[in-house]
Amino acid sequence: MSQSRHEERQQRLKDKVDARIEAAQIERGILLVFTGNGKGKTTAAFGTVCRTVGHGKKAAVVQFIKGSWDNGERELLEPHGVPFHVMATGFTWDTQNRETDTIACLETWYHAKQLLCDPKLDLVVLDELTYMVAYHYLSLDDVVNALKNRPESMSVIITGRACHKTLLELADTVTEMRPIKHAFDVGIKAQKGIDW
Ligand code: ATP
Ligand code: MG
Repeated sequence: MSQSRHEERQQRLKDKVDARIEAAQIERGILLVFTGNGKGKTTAAFGTVCRTVGHGKKAAVVQFIKGSWDNGERELLEPHGVPFHVMATGFTWDTQNRETDTIACLETWYHAKQLLCDPKLDLVVLDELTYMVAYHYLSLDDVVNALKNRPESMSVIITGRACHKTLLELADTVTEMRPIKHAFDVGIKAQKGIDW
């Protein structure tokens, strides 16, 4: 392709993109869902928290599945004013007790609901919330109501596999992480700094 033809094409593309940017005028908080079986859902959520905090805005994190005790994101972000609430005693992949899991889930959700009412927060992360709905520890209606009634300027990120269809419909941005390959499949151990 000649240089002038290439330039013409690029200019047309630029005009189209500029027009779309110009047309996007709505300013409000959004609901983002990072789902799917591939790696990167929680990482993407924390990447967004870093952006928020980097701009001097306020973020808070609720984690619905107990992470590793030396959660790297928490070590970094808590001293930068990001409150964390991690489901401490209940649900991990190891527990089998529905009753204690439900209590732990509801206690964590109680904190999440308070954050979802706080107009000072620009971003709330609900990490691994999808499982709580999938296992019926948490009522879908309750989650939907809290999301719908949040302050208009607040953005929310939900992460986790098997996200309920209703939450996908409610979301403004949905990304599905698709595993093409994962190091674990060939026996490579999960690594501090990469996986937690
Ligand atoms: P990450 O926290 O690394 O962004 P994630 O949030 O997308 O991962 P989860 O389903 O929450 O994934 O799983 C958490 C842990 O499982 C992480 O240590 C991650 O590396 C690992 N993991 C994620 N996807 C896969 C996969 N497809 N196969 C094996 N392990 C995975
Ligand atoms: Mg995750």
